[in-house]
Amino acid sequence: MARKLAAGNWKMNGTGGNLTELQALAGQDLPNSVDILICPPATLLSRAAALAGGIAIGGQDCHAVASGAHTGDISADMLRDAGATYVILGHSERRTDHGETSETVRAKAEAAIAAGLCAVICIGETLEERETGQTLSVVERQLAGSLPDVTTAANTVVAYEPVWAIGTGKVPTLEQIGEVHTALRRAVEHRFGAAGSDIPLLYGGSVKPSNAAEIFAVPNVDGALVGGASLKAADFGAIIAAL
Ligand code: PEP
Repeated sequence: MARKLAAGNWKMNGTGGNLTELQALAGQDLPNSVDILICPPATLLSRAAALAGGIAIGGQDCHAVASGAHTGDISADMLRDAGATYVILGHSERRTDHGETSETVRAKAEAAIAAGLCAVICIGETLEERETGQTLSVVERQLAGSLPDVTTAANTVVAYEPVWAIGTGKVPTLEQIGEVHTALRRAVEHRFGAAGSDIPLLYGGSVKPSNAAEIFAVPNVDGALVGGASLKAADFGAIIAAL
């Protein structure tokens, strides 16, 4: 069975003062049965790692090569050096804002895994793709293209995030989430064998304390990737408690 993971993506939000939220979260009575991850902006990684206690810290992106002439980019080794143990890759905002393809994401995941990071690989359909009945073919194609062959349950997490549900307050029905997660589980088991059963499959998109428990009860949902509601320790703590 896949381990449970509650992952928070702070996106481009937060300066030093916001680390009080991380401190407050670390001070809560957090369950041992759930892995907890916060991905702050890169500028906060070292400081976050220093006060995170048992909470893992992750980056929000990394470059596919180890070093070189890539102004503004961050390598997987640099994330590790700053205290990160995870990195989010292929978030839909990066696929849209930076033209990242599944091929790019796969190369980044290979670099992340080689550096000892766990890659949280995001996939998900747009509203148009859902409305034209392409959801399963889109996510299966993204999954196949984004996960490297070196994927194991220890070095990779998959996050299903419908693009239309991110930051919008809209959430797929539980049946829709279940349909996608069942298809993803089948796909990773088909490709990676027994290891595929243990790869955590997260749902992401407008997860809140009020809807977390019902989403976590859907088969093959092993946790959540949470944006807005991860910025406040009280909200994220309530989501963790629902896992
Ligand atoms: C996200 O950014 O990955 C996300 C799921 O955001 P939100 O929870 O705010 O919808």
